[in-house]
Amino acid sequence: MLVEFECPECKGHVYEKWSLDGSNLGIRLMYWHMILNPGLAINELVLGQRTPKVSYVCKSCDAPLADRSYVHCPGCDSFHQGRIWAYKNAFGNWLGLVCPTCGEPIPCLWNLTSRLLLVLTAPIWWIPVSRYRRQWLQASCKRISDNSLLYLDSVSNKPKPVRYFLMGNVWGLLMSFFTGIAATVLALVVWSVPASALAGIFFAATFGSLIIWIPAGWLFGLTMKLMIDRKGNPDLHLTFDGEGKLLDSDVARDVDEKAQ
Ligand SMILES: [Zn+2]
Ligand SMILES: [Zn+2]
Repeated sequence: MLVEFECPECKGHVYEKWSLDGSNLGIRLMYWHMILNPGLAINELVLGQRTPKVSYVCKSCDAPLADRSYVHCPGCDSFHQGRIWAYKNAFGNWLGLVCPTCGEPIPCLWNLTSRLLLVLTAPIWWIPVSRYRRQWLQASCKRISDNSLLYLDSVSNKPKPVRYFLMGNVWGLLMSFFTGIAATVLALVVWSVPASALAGIFFAATFGSLIIWIPAGWLFGLTMKLMIDRKGNPDLHLTFDGEGKLLDSDVARDVDEKAQ
C-alpha cells in the first residue's frame, strides 16, 4: 500500500509517523528513553502503561494533538484515536493496548529492564498467562471499549481542558521531592553522613530546590501546552491515489496547471 495512513477524520494523507524509525527526532529519542530507562519498568510492569510502537499524527486536522493522533491495529487494519487509551484505559495494558474493535493486542514498546524481569520471572506467569490469555484479552477489550465511549470527543461529551499550570506545579514539586531523595541517598552512601542528619538534608534539598524546579515546572507546563494544544494545518490537506498521484487539492491543481 502506497498510502500508509489516511486520517479517519479529514481523509488527508499528510501525517507524521511516531516510531523508532519515524522522522521526528524528539519522538525517536523519547521512545529510546522509554526502552532504556530502567525506572520505567515500574510503569510497564506494575501499572501496565504502554506506548504503541507506531502512531500516526494527522498534520491537516484543525484539532489539538490528542484529537489527531491515531494508533493502527494490525489485527483489523483500523485506525483508532489515541484518546481511547487515556485516563483509566492508560493503565492495566500488560498484554499491550487491546483493540476495542477486534480485541487483538496492538504491538507496543517494551522497556529492556521489563523484558529482563519478565524473562527471569517467566516460570511464575508463563503458564497462567498462556492458559487465560484469550479470556484476558476479551475482558480487556470490553473494558477499553466501554471506557472509550466516555473519552472520545463528541458534541455532548467535550473532553476536559488540560490544566497546564497545575501540571507544571505538580511536576516541579515531584522533581524537588526526587532531588531531596537523591541528595539523601548521596549523603548516606557517598559521604557517609550520620543517619541523624539525613532528615535535615532531605528537607533542605527538597525545599531548597523548589526555587529551581517550580519555574522549571512552569516551563514544562508551557512546553506541554504548546505541544499538546498545537493544531494541525488544514492547508496541508493532501490526498494521494493508489499510485501516489496527488488528488483533489489546490496543490494538485497547481501542479497540473504548471505541467500543461
Ligand atoms: Zn486529519
Ligand atoms: Zn483491531
